Amino acid sequence: MRKLGLIGGMSWQSTAIYYRHVNEIARARLGELHSADIILRSLDFADVAEGQHKGDWEGLADILAAASRDLEKAGAAALVLCTNTMHLLAGHIEAAVPIPLIHIADATASAIRRSKARNPILLATRFTMERDFYRGRLQSLHGLPTVIPDEAARLEIHRIIYEELCEGVIKPESKRRYVAEVERLRQQGADGVILGCTEITMLIGQDDFDIPVFDTTRLHAEAAMDFALRGELPARQKAEA
Ligand code: GLU
Repeated sequence: MRKLGLIGGMSWQSTAIYYRHVNEIARARLGELHSADIILRSLDFADVAEGQHKGDWEGLADILAAASRDLEKAGAAALVLCTNTMHLLAGHIEAAVPIPLIHIADATASAIRRSKARNPILLATRFTMERDFYRGRLQSLHGLPTVIPDEAARLEIHRIIYEELCEGVIKPESKRRYVAEVERLRQQGADGVILGCTEITMLIGQDDFDIPVFDTTRLHAEAAMDFALRGELPARQKAEA
C-alpha cells in the first residue's frame, strides 16, 4: 500500500471524517485488520481562517508548501489536501513537491460524470463558490457547469460553515436553510448537489434529497485510497463522450 500524506486541520472536524473514511475503505477493500497507511500534518485552523479572510493567500501558500515538503520528506507518495477551499492554492503545492496532489475537484467530477447530474448545485465556502479555481476546473477540465446560490444565501452558507460546522456545531435551523436553498435551485433546473466543503456532510446528505448528492469528503477519501491501493489518480480531463 502506498503511503498517503494528509494535510488536514481545515477544519479538524472534517479531517476526523477523512481518517475514518480512509480506514473504512482500506478495511472494505482489503479485509481483516487492514487500515490506511497515512501521515497526517494537521494545521491550526484559526491561523488558516484568519489568513483566508484577510486575503493573505501568499502566506497560506507558504504554509501549505512547507507542510507538503514535510510530508514528502516523511515518505508520502501522494498528497491529500483535506479541504475544498484550500485547493485555491493547489498550484503552489504542486510546484513545491514532485509527488502528486490528489485533487478534490477531479475526484468529485469523476463521480458526477458517472451520474446523470449535469447541472449540480455547489454548496461551499464563498471562496469556493465565488472564485474560479473550483467551478472553472469543473467546467474547463471536466465539462461540468455548476449552479451557485444567490449572494444572500452564499453569505449564510459560508457563515454556517465557519461559525458552526468547523466548530462541530450542528443546528436544525441551519440544516433547514441548506435544504431550502437546494430545493429553490432544484425548482430552477439544478439536478444534483455537491457538498463542496468537507464539513457539509455533517449537516446534510443523500437522505435529505431525491437528486444525487456528491459528498466531496467521501469521494476524495475514495480517490486517495484508489491511489494508495492501485496507483490511480482521478482523471484530469473530460472523459470521451
Ligand atoms: N473544509 C472546508 C472546505 O472544504 C472549509 C474550511 C477551509 O476553508 O478550509 O472548503
